[in-house]
Amino acid sequence: MTQEEVFKNLTAHCKEYGFVFQSSEIYDGLSAVYDYGQMGVELKNNIKKYWWDAMTRLNENIVGIDSAIFMHPRIWEASGHVGAFNDPLIDNKDSKKRYRADVLLEEYLAKLEEKMNKEVEKGKRKFGESFNEEQFRATNPNILRTKTKYDEVHGRMVAALEANDLNALRQLIIDCEIACPISGTKNWTEVRQFNLMFSTQLGNISGEDGTIYLRPETAQGIFVNFLNVQKTGRMKIPFGIAQIGKAFRNEIVARQFIFRMREFEQMEMQFFVRPGEELEWFKKWKETRLAWHKTIGLGDEKYRFHDHDKLAHYANAATDIEFEFPFGFKELEGVHSRTDFDLGNHQKFSGRKIQYFDPEKNESYVPYVIETSIGLDRCFLAVLSSAYCEEALENGETRVVLRIPAPLAPVKVAVLPLVKKDGLPEKAREIMDDMKYLFNCQYDEKDSIGKRYRRQDAIGTPFCVTIDHDTLKDNCVTIRYRDTMEQERVPISSLHSIIDEKVSIRSLLAKLR
Ligand code: ATP
Repeated sequence: MTQEEVFKNLTAHCKEYGFVFQSSEIYDGLSAVYDYGQMGVELKNNIKKYWWDAMTRLNENIVGIDSAIFMHPRIWEASGHVGAFNDPLIDNKDSKKRYRADVLLEEYLAKLEEKMNKEVEKGKRKFGESFNEEQFRATNPNILRTKTKYDEVHGRMVAALEANDLNALRQLIIDCEIACPISGTKNWTEVRQFNLMFSTQLGNISGEDGTIYLRPETAQGIFVNFLNVQKTGRMKIPFGIAQIGKAFRNEIVARQFIFRMREFEQMEMQFFVRPGEELEWFKKWKETRLAWHKTIGLGDEKYRFHDHDKLAHYANAATDIEFEFPFGFKELEGVHSRTDFDLGNHQKFSGRKIQYFDPEKNESYVPYVIETSIGLDRCFLAVLSSAYCEEALENGETRVVLRIPAPLAPVKVAVLPLVKKDGLPEKAREIMDDMKYLFNCQYDEKDSIGKRYRRQDAIGTPFCVTIDHDTLKDNCVTIRYRDTMEQERVPISSLHSIIDEKVSIRSLLAKLR
């Protein structure tokens, strides 16, 4: 099965098992907006908890806030979003589809990279043990040709983006002979800039334009509360403020399920440091964040850094942590060194002094900022796309199993009486009533035990506990493990410790030590 087919199946599975629904489905849906169902919300909450605890509990100098979505409109002038939060868009005249010009070019570059990697794979097969990849890349004529093309296109793209030269971007798309994936033609419009912020009206402010924006990032809520938190929390630099919340962007090219949505959730942390020390902290946070991702256990090889070619107006260093989604390596989290741009501009625009008095240096300054910004929905998609597995069993059947890391799994334990009579449901309820205070449990007595196991596999429940007639005599149950399908007879009294060790968020946090 191709990755595309697997992804299609995963999307259907998310709906069938209550993870993600299209928003407003009974009205034919709202494009690029999604609702999380009964399973999805549990997984999402578990990811949030892991991030929140890793940030605020493990770091004494990081505290959290929850700021409002509506903010004073001047904030978005100060942050640069009113003037510069734009995407360069281009339309195909035949399909009438709209694309981000930079994304079309990035996809073109990714194809060249794939071509070079395929050539390397061929070489590996041909030369076996004696294969030297570095030398091969430096000498193979096919690779060298592709590399020259790659460097040329990449160089022109970066220059065009940096100079905001929309004509040059369009020319590059034409020169690369990029065709619309829908119509297959190269009949392109001009490239235009499009602001991504949603606006709405705030009541009726007399004499004033009441236009306000839905926040396109949660970060500004942190910056405008810098003094509040620093003073009331008696925070000393370096320190951080974390926040989880909704953000809104009028994404024109909304594709790939929950990867790019118009309403999404971010988990952001702004870390305030002394001027001049920001690049050291930037390096540290890059590594710290990558380590956090890796502890989730989706596979270390699925992550990579991608340093930005074009720095945003506020940054002096920036990198993406990319994840290998079924549709390729894509941004999962951004780590940015935002200098003193945000606090400095809020100082200017608000007329309030936003500075920190550093007792050690005996001076006041506008702190510099390192930002870590992860999309919660993208993290959710990373977990699910790695977990989704269609597995052929020895008996010729297939099972769909979500191998979600146990601490993040929506349901931790299913409690299953073997039959619906003979006192087994009562015993099962007793066990469930004990465990529900500790773990998210599900009780199920309908259908054969095999069918019930499959249902739990499909939502990623790591443990099934089966109560049979012997349980009434020996107080033992059968515990069945999702990944291996192995079964083990254990005393009821040991259930708690067996399960807790595997499913607690604590076990993930401990890996960050
Ligand atoms: P992209 O280049 O993919 O548009 P970005 O660089 O604009 O992303 P940031 O502004 O750095 O993204 O936002 C931080 C994080 O928020 C991203 O790493 C991503 O995980 C998440 N994010 C951004 N836009 C969306 C969206 N439309 N839908 C879901 N998550 C998003």
